[in-house]
Amino acid sequence: MEKVAMVATMRITPEALAEIVAHARAALPDEACGYLGERDGVVGRVVRLTNALASPTRFALLPEEQFAALRALRAEGFSLRGVYHSHPAGPAVLSAEDERLAFDEALSYVVVSLAADPPLVRSFRVGPDAGEERMVSGRLTASRA
Ligand SMILES: [Zn+2]
Repeated sequence: MEKVAMVATMRITPEALAEIVAHARAALPDEACGYLGERDGVVGRVVRLTNALASPTRFALLPEEQFAALRALRAEGFSLRGVYHSHPAGPAVLSAEDERLAFDEALSYVVVSLAADPPLVRSFRVGPDAGEERMVSGRLTASRA
């Protein structure tokens, strides 16, 4: 998948961005995967999940862990914004298999490639407005309207 148009924007804290990369490195040689929690329009929470396949080229989530992660996010006031996973040696794009498994148009699908140095993190949406999503690193806002 290589689209030109940026269809949406994801705001994410520098800490969350760094955590995605840290998890990707910690999981080597396998793919890492996890959830991204959003609050006040900013992704500020990364939940590391187990790659049930323990594979360098594929990943799968464990349903029990997914439910527990969703509960933990909600308890902290976050909502599920997206799913991330790593490509230890592949590019920062969704593979054909990734696209097949990405069915939720409300979610962002983030891929971190460790083949690039520094690692490259990109976000994608699926559905009618499929394409790459612009990622903006920013702080959680202190004041709420
Ligand atoms: Zn993938």
